[in-house]
Amino acid sequence: MTENTNSSANFIKHIVKEDLAKGTHQEIVTRFPPEPNGYLHIGHAKSIVLNFELAHEFKGKVNLRFDDTNPSKEDQEFVDSIKADIEWLGYEWDGLHFASNYFDEMYRQAVLLIKKGLAYVEDLSQEDIRAYRGTLTEPGKESESRSRSEQENLDLFEKMKNGDFADGEKVLRAKINMSSPNINMRDPVIYRISHATHHNTGDTWCIYPMYSFAHPLEDAIEGVTHSICTLEFQDQRPLYDWVVEQCDIETTPKQIEFARLSLTNTVLSKRKLKQLVDENHVDGWDDPRMPTISGLRRRGFTPDSIKVFCREIGVSKADNLVDVRMLEHFLREDLKLKAPRTMAVLHPIKVVITNYPEGQVEWLDADVNPENSEMGTRKIAFSREIYLEQSDFMEDPPKKYFRLFPGNEVRLKHAYFIKCNEVIKDDDGNVIELRCTYDPETKSGSGFTGRKVKGTLHFVEATQAVEAEFRLYNSLIEDDREGNDFLDFVNSDSLEVAKGFVEPNMADAKLEDKFQFFRHGYFNVDSKHSTKDLLVFNRVVELKSSFKL
Ligand code: ATP
Ligand code: MG
Repeated sequence: MTENTNSSANFIKHIVKEDLAKGTHQEIVTRFPPEPNGYLHIGHAKSIVLNFELAHEFKGKVNLRFDDTNPSKEDQEFVDSIKADIEWLGYEWDGLHFASNYFDEMYRQAVLLIKKGLAYVEDLSQEDIRAYRGTLTEPGKESESRSRSEQENLDLFEKMKNGDFADGEKVLRAKINMSSPNINMRDPVIYRISHATHHNTGDTWCIYPMYSFAHPLEDAIEGVTHSICTLEFQDQRPLYDWVVEQCDIETTPKQIEFARLSLTNTVLSKRKLKQLVDENHVDGWDDPRMPTISGLRRRGFTPDSIKVFCREIGVSKADNLVDVRMLEHFLREDLKLKAPRTMAVLHPIKVVITNYPEGQVEWLDADVNPENSEMGTRKIAFSREIYLEQSDFMEDPPKKYFRLFPGNEVRLKHAYFIKCNEVIKDDDGNVIELRCTYDPETKSGSGFTGRKVKGTLHFVEATQAVEAEFRLYNSLIEDDREGNDFLDFVNSDSLEVAKGFVEPNMADAKLEDKFQFFRHGYFNVDSKHSTKDLLVFNRVVELKSSFKL
């Protein structure tokens, strides 16, 4: 599963191949440029896989660059989590950069633009700038500031830098074309004032470059050849090219856009994910219901399942909505041969095998993974007392119910046939215990063919069982619309906590170990809530899905 299974070339690969063939570049350089204002999500993973694997395939380089030009929202916590998530996915970056380390250079470039008559300091307020900008059908209007002299612009820009103005009092704009059909080209703001402490540069600066000016410069400074971003930046490409052309730089990075990942029943926007965290709809950025890399990791997704998913969904120019069950499909594929099989009873009911000798514990053999014999065998305990799943018993079953009911016989996985003879209830009439008998002749693996039973149930022997907690998840978001009303669709019933038992050998399970619980699905040992005394398992996915690839 670790190799790239999708050999079909995407359109970006074609561009890269052509550029190398034509000699436009000797070596390609890509970058992944997150803003450290939140944790990475599965959409970012798509971009990471694309950028890192493109660079690797063509023996180029890939940079991790923190696009930290907005001091108010950025934080070291996010820088650390982003690095850890990329490493966990299994990628190594060549260069590690911070856009904020280029602030001197960006300032120099802005001054050069002023000197070339291509930038000016604007007095208008943000609202007026917007009003002057015009619409899709009407050209914009030039402001008075546009005709300032070079010297005046240089003086004012320096004053902006020195902190002589309040936030919003002035901005620096590129002087391009107020009647351009592309609104992005109508003298966009390229520097703004913000008296905020920056996570990297502290209080050194009180002016900060805007994304559309900073990004092409960052790419150019690093010698990035192919600057891959999502479709919403398509209309900004002329501005990107304008900055590259007008600034004093040697290299010419090329912006290429692709469709961002959208997933059914999933919010993929840092702003909204932050809201879910800040308003306590979830237990942090790494809550197993979150589509963040750290949430998926805690839930039990593997790096391989995420990477294969990202490769298989492909890279295109057309927006599409991917079924979240596709990601689950690749997790099952990945774990099928790797995860040990074991039995867990999530909602236990006690069963006494009345004809089994008291005090005796028997150890039965079972495969660790019937689909992968190399994983060997394990020992399963059996005795007079076991736990079954409450839902595997019915006192008055409907027709065609093949599990346990009074008088019926079922097979216990890896053990014996048992037959239910008696039902014990508490004062309120709840079933609290079952009395059964077993047939020693029917031992699993003994070749018994005397009679057949229709139901096979899992169980855990009671005296050796390890107590465990199980966290069962439903979709956090009940709708596919990604509107601002997404909080209306938060599922209040997305987590069920059950307390039950697992096989004795599970006492050695380590954090993030993954298992397939017979009939229940794939589970992961939770890294946050498990303690020395209590294993907590997150259900990653159930075993079956109606989803077909
Ligand atoms: P969000 O929309 O979640 O706030 P963003 O684009 O603002 O994301 P950045 O930190 O700027 O977040 O993103 C870093 C890189 O990841 C960018 O190149 C961006 O295009 C890419 N990216 C973000 N979201 C997705 C997505 N859903 N699918 C593919 N790529 C994405
Ligand atoms: Mg962004």
